[in-house]
Amino acid sequence: MSVKQLDSLDKIVSLSKARGFIFQSSEIYGGLSAVYDYGPLGVELKRNIRDAWWKAMTQTHDNIVGVDAAIFMHPKVWEASGHVEGFNDPMIDDKQSKKRYRADMLIEQHIQKLRDKGKSDKADELQQKLDTTGTRKGLCEDLYDIIMEEEIKAPESGAFDWTEVRQFNLMFKTHYGATSKDDDDAIYLRPETAQGIFVNYKNVLDTARVQIPFGIAQVGKAFRNEVVARQFVFRMREFEQMEMQYFVQPGEDEKSYEEWLNTRLEWFKSLGIREENLRVAPHPDDKLAHYARAAADIQFNFPIGWQEVEGIHNRTDFDLSRHQEYSGKKMEYFDQKEQKRYIPYVVETSIGLDRCTLMALCDAYREEEVDGDSRTVLKLHPKLAPTKVGIFPLVKKPELKELAFKIEKNLKEDFTVLYDESGSIGKRYRRQDEAGTPFCITVDFDGLEDNTVTIRYRDDMEQERVSVDKLDTVIRNRMKSWKSE
Ligand code: ATP
Repeated sequence: MSVKQLDSLDKIVSLSKARGFIFQSSEIYGGLSAVYDYGPLGVELKRNIRDAWWKAMTQTHDNIVGVDAAIFMHPKVWEASGHVEGFNDPMIDDKQSKKRYRADMLIEQHIQKLRDKGKSDKADELQQKLDTTGTRKGLCEDLYDIIMEEEIKAPESGAFDWTEVRQFNLMFKTHYGATSKDDDDAIYLRPETAQGIFVNYKNVLDTARVQIPFGIAQVGKAFRNEVVARQFVFRMREFEQMEMQYFVQPGEDEKSYEEWLNTRLEWFKSLGIREENLRVAPHPDDKLAHYARAAADIQFNFPIGWQEVEGIHNRTDFDLSRHQEYSGKKMEYFDQKEQKRYIPYVVETSIGLDRCTLMALCDAYREEEVDGDSRTVLKLHPKLAPTKVGIFPLVKKPELKELAFKIEKNLKEDFTVLYDESGSIGKRYRRQDEAGTPFCITVDFDGLEDNTVTIRYRDDMEQERVSVDKLDTVIRNRMKSWKSE
């Protein structure tokens, strides 16, 4: 059997549309860029990932509780968090095509081209220059200078006719209330879920009987008016985040940061993501965000290169101190054991649910040649698979259908199942391979005699006869012992 791994994101985009994982938003009107809708299979996959995260973060930790904060928040929140002032990306416009680009990304692409051409000394030199942008003049001027010096052309038009580099705030602004007319009533769609946790830190402390160290977890939508958003659900303008803020005593933060980095990396492996596709990339000290003492990305090897899926950050007491300053409300914690008051430090784990869904699809995708026949298969961890079991009567005969329906009824209490009687058995298997369904059950005439069926396994296509009464146990055991390959 020959196996081909994923070599382009386009294959995932096509499969997603063809099989009903992910569609472009408002497609019948030409689509809305960087916004996507999940179809019947996608919604299940995404929900399974969300549930796995929620279970790992809350159910298996006695000291982590959840919240579900609103998307709209008081405008002062975003002043305190630093987003009004500093949540910007540097952008530059190609005057000929009127297309907008992120200036730093244009330079990154140029560096990659130099490397591809074997000019690694020049690439290293430029990378170093890029890494120190903003330390000499200002970020925008530095980036502009590099683009001019290197004569970087616009990728689409090929023109060298740029505007200045300008900072662009990524928050979506809208107006609040029917009578609002001016900017005084401006309100933002939240660009991250974390602030909903910080502003509820006191409420949770007062009601949930938690003691430091403790965490608050949240899953919810976030909105960013991204300058460049052309990589499917990797970079969207409306997306979902799963964040957890872990509150610790100052001094315990570095240890906690290391522990969470490790714990989170293990979580990816528990989803069956192949180890060779994962790596940790610590942020160099001079590239840390204004609030962070240490930060690292957990990256996945996407067809577009190694990219961040999750960020682990030591945010110190920055956020709580700023909210104390801007709201005038005390954010201190009284530590009974230590008999002292302090503003806790925070270690954050922040992952994008959509990006994680894309990662799962990319990691699972294979094209296989088997005895002259080809198949596309998603080798998803069974716990993530949108449909767990396909149930097929061999032919459309009432007695076979009856047994198939009985099996479906029994299994659907515990698993997502799909009954399918159309097309040849081979075609039905292939359809479920593409959907990532790990188990398919075929009901035939022998089974009517001895109460057995054929169960076929997605990954190695092996088949075995199993008693109808044992199906539940066989599936459960296989799910538990599943390993990625
Ligand atoms: P990037 O550098 O890719 O823009 P970021 O460093 O701005 O990401 P964070 O603010 O740390 O990202 O957000 C945490 C997580 O949220 C990211 O690791 C990513 O998985 C997800 N995320 C951020 N922006 C987007 C987006 N525009 N679309 C989809 N997911 C996103």
